[in-house]
Order: sequence, then C-alpha cells, then structure tokens
Amino acid sequence: MSSIIQINHLKKSFGNNEVLKDVSLTVKKGEIVTIIGSSGSGKSTLLRCINLLEKPTAGEIIYNGENVLTPGYNLPKYRTHLGMVFQSFNLFNNMDVLENCITGQVTVLKRNREEAKKIAIENLEKVGMSRFLNAKPAQLSGGQKQRVAIARAVSMNPDVMLFDEPTSALDPEMVGEVLKTMKDLTKTGLTMIIVTHEMGFAKEVSDRVIFMDKGVIAEEGTPEQIFNMPKGERTKAFLHRVL
Ligand code: ADP
Ligand code: MG
Repeated sequence: MSSIIQINHLKKSFGNNEVLKDVSLTVKKGEIVTIIGSSGSGKSTLLRCINLLEKPTAGEIIYNGENVLTPGYNLPKYRTHLGMVFQSFNLFNNMDVLENCITGQVTVLKRNREEAKKIAIENLEKVGMSRFLNAKPAQLSGGQKQRVAIARAVSMNPDVMLFDEPTSALDPEMVGEVLKTMKDLTKTGLTMIIVTHEMGFAKEVSDRVIFMDKGVIAEEGTPEQIFNMPKGERTKAFLHRVL
C-alpha cells in the first residue's frame, strides 16, 4: 500500500506551550488509524494540523508526494480531499438534512445540484438517515446529527476522513449507532484517522493504534500489540485507567 499522508517532524506550539513535539506518522491508502491518549495530549491539535485548521510551527505534511506547507500550495484544494467529523457535529442549523449534504458539493466541488442531491441521498441512506431529508438539525438526536455529519463529509468524496472524538458528546444510548456507521465506512476502503475514547471500537476496527502522550507518539502498533501487549509504562498506565 502506498502512503497517502506522511507527517514528518511536526511541531505545534501555542505561545510557550509546545503541544506537538516532533510527531511523525505515515498513513497508507485505505488504512484505519486510531489515535488514543489522555485529554490534553495533543490529539485534536494533530488532526487540526493535518487539515490545516492550525498552522504547524515546524515540520512537513506530505500529501500525494507534495509538502502542503510549501508556500503557494493550493490549500483550499487540499482541504477538499479531507473530510472532518467533529465532536460537536457542526451541522448548518439553518439548513435541512438534505441541504447540509448538498451545499458543499455545489459550492466547493461545483457539482450540479441534481448530481449533488443524488449523492447526498445515497450517503444519507447508507447512514440510515434518508427518512429525515427535510428535518432541521434541531429536530434530530445527537446520534442522528452525527450520522448526517458523516454523510455530509462522505458526500464530498474525500480521500481521507478525520474524526475527532465523534461519540464523546453523545448520550450513551446513541454511541452505538454512530460507531456502527463508522464501522460500515471502514469497509469501503476509505482512509480514516480517528481520535477516540472508545477502546473496544479502536481494538476492533484499527489497522494501527497510535498512543499519544504529552505531545509525542509514545507507542504505536496493531490493536493486539497496543491493547494486549503494551510495551511502554505510559501506555500501560493509560490503558489501566481507561479499560
Ligand atoms: P487532546 O485533543 O488530546 O485533548 P488538544 O490537542 O486539544 O488535546 O490540546 C493539547 C494542548 O493544547 C492543551 O494543553 C490545550 O490547552 C492546548 N491548545 C489546544 N488548542 C489551543 C489553542 N487554540 N490555543 C491555545 N492552546 C491550545
Ligand atoms: Mg481533543
């Protein structure tokens, strides 16, 4: 498998606070990578640097062989290749479900409305939300909103999907439906980078698990390696706390 995103020696500071300290990570096409670690370890910052919602202080992000941090690189185009799902849904509250999934396709990708609508409906069907096309986000449960957010992101045909704790804001009874939707997505060949506190899910779907601690990748490996035979003391202590 060839790499789709390669992160080399990435650093990010906020003032004097160095939040990412020399993070390097290569993600292969089709790979499912989960990122685990304590709150404040830099997981969100890493995702936000990957899609350049935050500008790294140093390092390289190589996408399809090119460093996206090179001056003049087409960042708006780059961002269209990345889908992002946030903890807080971030749907457009003034638009109904269908329009949420159409608008980016029309404005950013310049698809015609009919094609965009067809793609939106297909993806809403896949996440079990086709009965809610004309509902407004305020009428939906958290789990339903998050499934719409996933359908919206997938409708943009991203090369890579980034998830930042997509189930952390949900009532417990809704976590399962969102994890199932994500699990279905792992089977489509899409590359996924998922920050999660759901250890069972991480163990089940990941090709590789990254454990972050205090701004570094403290350990990485297959789910078996990380969950059943962690090597580092910090990994063991974290898993002891959360499992
Ligand atoms: P995690 O997602 O693992 O909980 P974050 O990446 O959100 O960790 O945060 C790591 C550290 O970076 C925290 O100490 C947080 O306060 C700091 N941080 C994150 N975003 C900002 C920001 N926009 N401005 C200042 N500090 C930030
Ligand atoms: Mg976070």
